[in-house]
Amino acid sequence: MKRTASVIRALFYLHICPLLLHISPPLTGGDQGESDYFQSTNHPHPGHPPSQGEGNSNETVLNLLLPLITALVIFLTAFVAKAETPTGSLLDGLAPGPDGKIDVLTIFPHQDDEFYAGGTLLKMKQDPRVRIHIACLTLGDKSDARFWLHVDPDTLGRVRSGELVSAAAVYNAMEVIQLDYHDQGLKGADQAELDRKILDIINRTGAEVVITHDPSGLTRHPDHVFGSAAVTRAFPQSNAKRLYYATQPEWIYLPTSTITPFHEKGKHLKPTIKIDISDYLLLKRLAVYEHVSQARFSLVGLTVEQSLLVPYEWFSLGMEK
Ligand SMILES: [Zn+2]
Repeated sequence: MKRTASVIRALFYLHICPLLLHISPPLTGGDQGESDYFQSTNHPHPGHPPSQGEGNSNETVLNLLLPLITALVIFLTAFVAKAETPTGSLLDGLAPGPDGKIDVLTIFPHQDDEFYAGGTLLKMKQDPRVRIHIACLTLGDKSDARFWLHVDPDTLGRVRSGELVSAAAVYNAMEVIQLDYHDQGLKGADQAELDRKILDIINRTGAEVVITHDPSGLTRHPDHVFGSAAVTRAFPQSNAKRLYYATQPEWIYLPTSTITPFHEKGKHLKPTIKIDISDYLLLKRLAVYEHVSQARFSLVGLTVEQSLLVPYEWFSLGMEK
């Protein structure tokens, strides 16, 4: 299985190599200098200038190869994903609460983080007993979207909180709970106070199931790591029955945790259960696109797009009572 994972990883890099070629800066030399090239408006792909006569054929090859490689990666991704982790439901064997309902609570630090569990939420909601509660710990006000959109952090925080409410409508969530920690602020926050707030949320929602990031935070973002740690501390004192960590198999985790600009350390957990979300992939896409500041005006959008190609989500059972 390790060999298969290595092959998939190689294919993943093969998949992104043509993309990198596509945007790599032009080589120096020739008649067309670099500055001239960037000023040129004729070529549709700045960064990949053709030499005389070969440009069109190179582009044709790339344009043919990219969809083929992408299709191959998706196929192999689905194949390996199918083989590695058992499929199931996060609700298997779980008894409802005293009111006959099953309350599922996601606790993530940023508004768009619920995409790690988005298809799973949509699938679970098909069970009429399920009620979904979405808690967001920070305002998401430091996303790079504020640079591209030329807005201040307060404005971005307001916009992103609104986007989460729209996404929650797609998930048919019962409520959104928005805390007001600043983005990248969980690491320096008062730990006891953060734990208490999370414990209050878990008990007030009557959650049977709690979902958060795995301890590595997947992207090594400090809010992901410290948010996950706080939920892990609060859970044992709560009335909830199961804690699931949203995680990823190594062949997705390794590339994303390598290219991330963040460096916080935490243990990456191997998935123990995999959810087939193929019937909900389009609706998940709709929910993810409700976070339009991230999907269209942030570099995070690239990671999110990649995730929308995969018809599975992965979890690791952290604790069960
Ligand atoms: Zn996040």
